[in-house]
Amino acid sequence: MGTPINLGRLFGVYLRVDIGVFLIAAIFVIDGLRQPGFGGVVDEITFVVLLFMSIYLHEMGHAFGARLFGIGTHDVTLTFFGGYARLSRTPRTTLEEIVVSGSGPAANLLLAAGLSFFLGSTSSDGVADHSWFILERLVYANLILGIFNLLPGYPLDGGNIAQAILARFMRRSQARLITGYIGLGVAGLLVLWGLSGGGFGFTVLVGLMLGFAAWQEVQAVKGSRF
Ligand SMILES: [Zn+2]
Repeated sequence: MGTPINLGRLFGVYLRVDIGVFLIAAIFVIDGLRQPGFGGVVDEITFVVLLFMSIYLHEMGHAFGARLFGIGTHDVTLTFFGGYARLSRTPRTTLEEIVVSGSGPAANLLLAAGLSFFLGSTSSDGVADHSWFILERLVYANLILGIFNLLPGYPLDGGNIAQAILARFMRRSQARLITGYIGLGVAGLLVLWGLSGGGFGFTVLVGLMLGFAAWQEVQAVKGSRF
C-alpha cells in the first residue's frame, strides 16, 4: 500500500508505518463513535495505539532474537495486517530459525502475562473502569497475537518454527510443502470463522491474505521440485 512513512530510528532499528495502519485506526474510531459521548472514541484510539505498540513489540522481539545471533535488523514496518521486520540476513541453523521466529510471539505472551499479573494484583478501584477494560482487551489482543502466530502454518512464525524442525527429518522442500498446506488449513478456518460472525470482516481478509501466501508457497515448492 504505497511507500511506508519512516518515523526514524528507535533502539537502532528504523520504524516505518504503512498508510494502511490509519485505515485500521479509522475502523476503531468509527466503532468508538457508536458509543454515546466522546469517551468511546478516546478509548478506541488509546486501544488501537496500544495494539500497534504490541505489534511493534512483536517485531522488536524478532529483532532481539536475531541480535542474539549477530543478525541486524534494517527496519520494522507496521502495516494493515500487522507488521514485519527486515533482517540483515536470514537465520541459518535450526536454533537460529526457532529463536528468531519464536521471539516475536514470546514478546506478546510475556506482555500478556505481565499485564494479567498487574491486573490480578491491583484492585480495580484505583483504576478508572474504562482504563481497566482497555488493559483487559490488551491482554487478550497480546494472547491472540502470541498464540495465533505460533500456529504451525506458513507464513506464520509457528510455520517457520515447524519448518525448521521438520527440515531436520526430511528435505526442506517437503517441510515447506507441509507447513504450506497447514497454512492453507489455518487460513480456511479463519475465513470460515470470520464468515460465521467471529471477529470482524477483518478476520476474513486476514484469512484470505494468509491463504494466498500459503497457496503461493505450495505452488513455489511444487514448481521447483522437478
Ligand atoms: Zn512474527
